[in-house]
Amino acid sequence: MNVLLTADVASSRPTAAHPEPCVLTVVLPFHNEQAGVAALFARLMPVLEGLGLSFEVLCVEDGSRDATFEKLRDVALADPRIRVLRFARNFGKEVALTAGLNHARGEAVVLMDSDLQHPPELIADFVRLWREGWQMVYAQRRRRDTDSAARKMASGAFYWLFRLVSEVTIPEGAGDFRLLDRKVVDALNAMPERSRFMKGLMSWVGFRQTGIDYDVEQRFAGRSTFNLWKLFLFAMDGLVSFSNVPLRMWSWFGFGISAISGLYGLFVLLWALLHGRDLPGYTSLFTAVVFLGGLQLVTLGIIGEYLGRVHTEVKRRPLYLLSDTVGLDGDTPVDRSGA
Ligand code: UDP
Ligand code: MG
Repeated sequence: MNVLLTADVASSRPTAAHPEPCVLTVVLPFHNEQAGVAALFARLMPVLEGLGLSFEVLCVEDGSRDATFEKLRDVALADPRIRVLRFARNFGKEVALTAGLNHARGEAVVLMDSDLQHPPELIADFVRLWREGWQMVYAQRRRRDTDSAARKMASGAFYWLFRLVSEVTIPEGAGDFRLLDRKVVDALNAMPERSRFMKGLMSWVGFRQTGIDYDVEQRFAGRSTFNLWKLFLFAMDGLVSFSNVPLRMWSWFGFGISAISGLYGLFVLLWALLHGRDLPGYTSLFTAVVFLGGLQLVTLGIIGEYLGRVHTEVKRRPLYLLSDTVGLDGDTPVDRSGA
């Protein structure tokens, strides 16, 4: 791999002992991706070397149960431009991206998946637009061919709902594959919240943003960890983190129902005065009791959802724990096994 190095890039190599600032950091989250590591670097490194600027690749190993870390460690030990953070357990992709942003040294940071669904060749376009003055360049997927019909529908519904209730707009089809300027990275790093819905946070910060279209590719190896249930939880997290509407809409409902029942009460009173008390009320009474009971449970559940978040925030636990690092200051020895 090093044969491909140009003299320019080689001379600007950062080393662990003397980390130099570099222009570009590529952050990659890895979770059980051992089968794809070699293919990823074989494709990514020539692209980065072709950019003609100094760069580092920051791998965040997110509690894999396979040999992903060992593979990453081997490539990082052979190439000082590659650094690895290893989480103490699986903290999830959003937190992995956050850790990457915390440790990135570049003037610009690219976030991309490590399963080759995000074509590395697009980074050249990101960098071109960044040099033109854009502070955030996100990739927008043109088609969703790689997704199942259910996933397509679910994601359509999510974007619709998110637009409806939240004050930030997430561009449709834009994922985490994007370039962020240092200013944006610093802004994101300054956000203290534990709930890291990155897409939302990245829209919330604003700055000069632009998108470019791309076609998402098939996963190189392994399988996606996001099933529909996980995506549902993720979507809930996003909605609750970025909107108070679920919390507030019940007061509107309450007003509506009070108004209607007030009018109904008036009607019943008048009817009784005019015609005597012969109004059969069992069905309407039953319906009202059950409906309102259900509504109150839903409301309580939603309050619980927000309260749970407050609870998580006030505990002030660290967002993630690192168990090993390669290529960072204060590295812990990672190869005690002698393997
Ligand atoms: N990933 C991660 N932690 C997790 C799950 C996934 O770091 O808990 C990484 C994974 O290795 C991949 C990226 O996040 O690089 C996207 O995950 P995946 O391909 O499973 O999701 P999809 O592409 O289907 O949205
Ligand atoms: Mg994927």
